[in-house]
Amino acid sequence: LDLMPANATCTTCPYCGVGCGVLASPDGAGRLKIKGDPAHPANQGRLCSKGSALGETVDSDGRLLAPQIDNRSASWDDALDLVATRFKDTIAKHGPDAVAFYVSGQLLTEDYYVANKLMKGFIGSANIDTNSRLCMASTVAGHKRAFGTDTVPGTYEDLELADLIVLVGSNLAWCHPVLYQRIVAAKNARPNMRIVVIDPRRTATTDIADLHLQITPGTDVALFNRLLSEIHQQGAVDADFVSKHVTGFSDTLDAATSADAGVTGLSHADLTQFLNLWVRTEKTVTIFSQGVNQSAQGTDKVNAILNCHLATGRIGHPGMGPFSVTGQPNAMGGREVGGLANMLACHLDIENPDHRALVGGFWSAPAMPEQPGLKAVDMFRAVSDGRIKALWIMCTNPAVSLPDADFVRDAIAGCDFTVVSDLTNTTDTARLADVVLPATGWGEKDGTVTNSERVISRQRGVLPAPGQARHDWDIIADVGRRMGWQNAFDYSCPAEIFREYAALSSLAAAQGKDFDISGLAELSNSEYDALRPTRWPVSRRDRPAGRMFADGRFFTATGRANMLPVEQATMEPSTPRQYRLNTGRIRDQWHTMTRTARAPRLNQHYGEPFLEIHPEDALALGLKPAELALVTSDHGTAVLRVLITDRTRPGTVFAPIHWTSEYASAGRICTVVPAITDPVSGQPDSKAADVLIAPY
Ligand code: SF4
Repeated sequence: LDLMPANATCTTCPYCGVGCGVLASPDGAGRLKIKGDPAHPANQGRLCSKGSALGETVDSDGRLLAPQIDNRSASWDDALDLVATRFKDTIAKHGPDAVAFYVSGQLLTEDYYVANKLMKGFIGSANIDTNSRLCMASTVAGHKRAFGTDTVPGTYEDLELADLIVLVGSNLAWCHPVLYQRIVAAKNARPNMRIVVIDPRRTATTDIADLHLQITPGTDVALFNRLLSEIHQQGAVDADFVSKHVTGFSDTLDAATSADAGVTGLSHADLTQFLNLWVRTEKTVTIFSQGVNQSAQGTDKVNAILNCHLATGRIGHPGMGPFSVTGQPNAMGGREVGGLANMLACHLDIENPDHRALVGGFWSAPAMPEQPGLKAVDMFRAVSDGRIKALWIMCTNPAVSLPDADFVRDAIAGCDFTVVSDLTNTTDTARLADVVLPATGWGEKDGTVTNSERVISRQRGVLPAPGQARHDWDIIADVGRRMGWQNAFDYSCPAEIFREYAALSSLAAAQGKDFDISGLAELSNSEYDALRPTRWPVSRRDRPAGRMFADGRFFTATGRANMLPVEQATMEPSTPRQYRLNTGRIRDQWHTMTRTARAPRLNQHYGEPFLEIHPEDALALGLKPAELALVTSDHGTAVLRVLITDRTRPGTVFAPIHWTSEYASAGRICTVVPAITDPVSGQPDSKAADVLIAPY
């Protein structure tokens, strides 16, 4: 690695939302030498196991090299003519809502922008949703309810400046490893920094915790309501901030005061220690991720956390604030560009007629939908019952990753016409498609991503596209032209798309929205190519982004933030013999393994899907270490290797999400997870399925 050439390409890791800078250089044998970019603000040279193995994942073995129609190679012309014709015919016969795009937080912003423009502005439906719905939709909804926009207030530097970091439902050490490394380094430098982890499981992250609250799954609202009540009782409310900048304080406090923290299952001593630490430490950052978001009450959990920061005025200042860390490399970019079915580009709102008119006018769009489209889970229900008859899935594998995955697989198989764009034709989803389009992947693609601290970074191509593979923005734009919208999709490079997007953001900013990159709207192609990591808002290129909410002004109509009364949902007890299944990631795999499984060293951490189960439960079920267990629910089954450990609580089990039928024939755990969603965000509850377990 020390031999990295001086002219190595600066790019960005394609895995998690930390968004680490990577230096990449061809090794002459079809792979890449990889090193962390010391100049990137997110990682300052660090990389985790996944990022550092990127160079081993880029060879063209197994890649799809030409389009396929019905499993036979076809020309691009034939494939794209077929896609355009089938979509046009379906729309003509059944209306625009009979078609849908299901896209991905792995897409680059420019890809996302063109897909969103085609569906919302030209097809005239809002049926475009993204796998980011599974990742942080509850945070988007919570932010919008509290702040008026989906604004992440903090930066990674705040984690190093904090005196207390509270991690809620986040195994940062495995899922955002470089952020975890930054916190470990900060704690080593300042041993008085305190860290609390709130998680039903003991994880690698709890190793650095001064306090681990092994909370009853799903009771975070009760805990943070209890905290708000304690903030009030101890006189820690920032009355000046609340009176000037917040609405809803009294009602929210009333709801919190009546909350029962007993459901959290925490001991009095642990609860008291946590409450005192939080209340008495001004510089507190509360980090949250999937344990909060992936819940039937995810949006309320987010607002319960935001309420505590708003009541204390601990937001908009260094070293404090709520901080959502996103799962995917461009989940943030997708949120910004309107990739969710209920949003428009640049954080504009689809239900606001002025916003629709603004975006429609900017695009010269023939048709703008007036209602939000179908969110991910509902989209596949509509595919199943025939309301959606033509579906284009880009860069994601819903037959493995969505809850009730067998239902989703069968829905796709039964769809009149399905297109998949991906690197291979061997994923569980691509195998079901009528048309498979070879897309470029990381190391070949060119564009931008936004990380969890609102920093826009460039992904740059280092290797040539294999075979006939094309960039996603290029494929989508070509279909747009073949559907008849020649001028609107006449793009020649990603820089051109980025400039258009940045120009649109100036109109959004004029509407009072937070997302503003208008200062980048005049970038030349070479300036775009050379763009260094840049935090938004960027209203002028010579003006660095200021701290969000530093002036106490929020993006609601009143300029005040909203505190929202939230109530802990009743926890339905599992029936006898049932276990509560928690799902999540492991350190060295990513999503459905389409890239990480190509690196042999990443397969050494865990070689097969497993089930973590408490020793008492294993004994009761007659399960021995390394035996196979059958996991069953009303929706499906999975067969997993037994891993007996007291990391899980009795009555709960854990399984990783990654394995597909390509790598383990019965290892798709999402088959047993029911498609229960948060009523506000539509995000599935992937952490609390009731399952039966038996020796296999
Ligand atoms: Fe990539 Fe995330 Fe690891 Fe950074 S922390 S190298 S972005 S996977």
